[in-house]
Amino acid sequence: MVVPRLNMVIGAFTNASLPIFFTRDWHPPNHMSFKGQGGTWPPHCVKETPGAEFHPKLEVPLGAVVVSKGTEADLEAYSGFQGTDLEKRIKETRVHEVFLGGLATDYCVKETALDALDAGLKVKVLEDCIRGVNLRGNDSELALREVVARGVALVTSLDAVRLVSRARRSHPKPRHPRLG
Ligand code: ZN
Repeated sequence: MVVPRLNMVIGAFTNASLPIFFTRDWHPPNHMSFKGQGGTWPPHCVKETPGAEFHPKLEVPLGAVVVSKGTEADLEAYSGFQGTDLEKRIKETRVHEVFLGGLATDYCVKETALDALDAGLKVKVLEDCIRGVNLRGNDSELALREVVARGVALVTSLDAVRLVSRARRSHPKPRHPRLG
């Protein structure tokens, strides 16, 4: 179950005032990835339907950036960067390193990780916060091997929490001048 571990990382980032970006499939009902349109997948994440909502237990903080992808009927978008303003949104925050989790290891996680590298970001994949589809038995393993070969690091959710809290201790937040 990846949601509780993702929530732990989300909580640590929230406490450290670090930005969090959520990506979601947000498909039109006739999306080309659906079997009825000749695609690979059963219909999923049809925009403005319950199927496109985040997992009910996933903690999406107020003010978090939500990026929708796969919004055009004739374009697939496994990567959160594809056809979205995610790169711009990340760069606006001056972030140079991202921690990545979610579904699915062998499609959206893999493609998002590779695009994040191409965007010049350091990329860490949260290896205990991902799950694969594995249409072929070892697709996820191959996907992880590929992203690691390209320069992605694999870390656990606990590693991420420790790194973030350590960074916070060595760079304490500046005190805001008292108002009034
Ligand atoms: Zn999709």
